[in-house]
Amino acid sequence: MLKKIDAAARLIGRYSSLFQCPVCGLAMEMNENRTLLCRNRHGFDTAKPGYISLLTRAVKSDYGKTMFEARNLVCRSGFFQPLIERIGQTILTNISGGGLEPITVLDAGCGEGSQLAQLAEVWKRETPTGFLGAGLDLSKEGVAIAAREYAGFIWCVGDLARSPFRDQSFDVILNVLSASNYGEFSRLLSKDGMLIKVIPGSEHLRQLRHVLYDRSPRQAYSNEKTRALFMRHFDMLDERQIRYDVTLQKELLEPLVRMTPLSWGARDEQLQQALQLAIREITADFTVLVGRAKVQ
Ligand SMILES: [Zn+2]
Repeated sequence: MLKKIDAAARLIGRYSSLFQCPVCGLAMEMNENRTLLCRNRHGFDTAKPGYISLLTRAVKSDYGKTMFEARNLVCRSGFFQPLIERIGQTILTNISGGGLEPITVLDAGCGEGSQLAQLAEVWKRETPTGFLGAGLDLSKEGVAIAAREYAGFIWCVGDLARSPFRDQSFDVILNVLSASNYGEFSRLLSKDGMLIKVIPGSEHLRQLRHVLYDRSPRQAYSNEKTRALFMRHFDMLDERQIRYDVTLQKELLEPLVRMTPLSWGARDEQLQQALQLAIREITADFTVLVGRAKVQ
């Protein structure tokens, strides 16, 4: 079997036309030493676990390995499945498929990669059109888990603000519970490309919220701001809320608490308190914004 590093280098090499040098913006090619190289000789090595780092400077990520491992467990349990199904249907409805070329999907802020991998599964079930998925995240810890768990995707450590991809490279950009860069999204999307942004709704994880977070109108306010910013850059094609309850197996409570942004600012005693809760059902609540870039 092909080693992970070789499989990754081969896949990136095959689709090297998606990339541009994050230093100088020139086109890139994969060489025989598994280095992605531009003509100005800026080079980026494929890493052993099967990803490529295209960071041009040291960037500190706020999220550690523990958080991403927890998130991976929760994702694998199917927690996000109804959301992913919905996203899959949205893409199928809005993208004219059936061509010979695979649809190209960038997960901007892919973390540990589960959502892109699960979306690819939905896609394969529904259509014979190929699916080329690339995941980009600032966190090496997250991307390393993605490469370990999910083969057949392009996994990149990189900065969304200087993303290492060429103009109009992607049919779909997925941006789930993660920071946006609308300038880059507009640049990276193909002519009829589509941005799918997921933000947490007011009921999201409400069973944990009252322990971990003060009840405050902050969330609603920040969603309004996010929505306004989205609409400044993108024409809204669709906007919908997805809310469902998940029966929580006991052993998933801890990873769920550990992976959630709600807990990052929580005090230790609040975390302990949350872990003591006998939560059987947990609410997932998302708003999905779908847009096309405004014509400049
Ligand atoms: Zn360069």
